[in-house]
Amino acid sequence: MTTTMKPGRFGVFGGRYVPETLMANLIELEAAFEAAWEDKSFKADLAATLADFVGRPTPLYFAERLSGEWGGRVFLKREDLTHTGAHKINNAVGQALLAKRMGKQRIVAETGAGQHGVATAAACARLGLSCRVYMGALDCERQQPNVARMKLLGAEVFPCEGGTRNLKVAINEAIRDWVAHPNETYYLLGSAVGPHPYPTIVRELQSVIGIEAREQFSRREGKLPDAVIACVGGGSNAIGIFAPFLDDKVALFGVEAGGDSPQHGSCTLAHGRPGVLHGAFSYVLQDGDGQITGTHSIAPGLDYPGVGPQHSALKDSGRVRYEIETDETALAAFHELSRIEGILPALESSHALAFARRYLRENKGKTVIVNLSGRGDKDLPSIMARSTGLPARDGGANAR
Ligand SMILES: *Cc1c(COP(=O)(O)O)cnc(C)c1O
Repeated sequence: MTTTMKPGRFGVFGGRYVPETLMANLIELEAAFEAAWEDKSFKADLAATLADFVGRPTPLYFAERLSGEWGGRVFLKREDLTHTGAHKINNAVGQALLAKRMGKQRIVAETGAGQHGVATAAACARLGLSCRVYMGALDCERQQPNVARMKLLGAEVFPCEGGTRNLKVAINEAIRDWVAHPNETYYLLGSAVGPHPYPTIVRELQSVIGIEAREQFSRREGKLPDAVIACVGGGSNAIGIFAPFLDDKVALFGVEAGGDSPQHGSCTLAHGRPGVLHGAFSYVLQDGDGQITGTHSIAPGLDYPGVGPQHSALKDSGRVRYEIETDETALAAFHELSRIEGILPALESSHALAFARRYLRENKGKTVIVNLSGRGDKDLPSIMARSTGLPARDGGANAR
């Protein structure tokens, strides 16, 4: 199922490009995860946590009215209904349980829009672990409700200056902290990116989405869907729903954020070139000198210049097709789902919805599963600003 040739590689992509001092920690983490994943009591703890704390299984919802509008059959995997409102909690609770099992009490995480920080803070509170979250100073300003949530959940939040004061500097600071305290620290990464073994750990923890969806769909319909569609930032919700379908005759589509124009998007797979970012070899958005280029998307969770290494391999093999939707088409899909189905989707998930609409226009009568990775409540300020024409405190030029 994984296209790994060497451990930690997906074809030529992946690997570990980290300071010498972290090598031993990554090897320790790999061994600890493999042992935990074979251990029935760890799996039982994780299953109980997913059921009673996270709220799994999430429903696979048949969007009947939307299907009527779009001319196909649309099913939504409802990750928006999980505790804290997005799929990120699946990974956060799994890694927090792993940290506890490894005897690490000090959790360090980075966050962009704050969703991963909130999920990590919640998981740490539940397990009695200390939690330090690094967040770009600009992101702290524009995502104040999530900063407040993290603090109320007992986490310490460290605003990071430097660079464009967003996710990239936060990751740098989190890695710096880990390098300074490697033995007692567990670095809880929020997407299917980073050095081996993180892309594999995150995929396995997020695969619960695809395992449930495949089972729920085939039980209900007696077959598999024609297509599965998910948005791609770092790629964790997408690889989580794709993984159990990789060997099936099901079309898989990852949707990147095109922003407001081709130059401003975050389309790492469409416009990037292979390179090293944050510990792994993968497609990266970079200029001619290899400098990381600025990204923009209305969806903060998609606003990242890298992507998980397995997606790079799946692009090159052609098994997954990667498509682009813009701020505008995502917003249109946001409004359609809200009015037609009574569900406010996250702006990230709205990119997947926008592509589903386009796909069904060209493939009449097909059946699709869209991963509804999160709920849209966090995005209301930028959506309201867009629809009134006023500049958003968290949108527009300062988001670039
Ligand atoms: C963070 C986030 C994403 C993007 O992250 P992936 O790792 O690509 O899944 C997508 N949707 C929501 C709701 C998010 O919070």
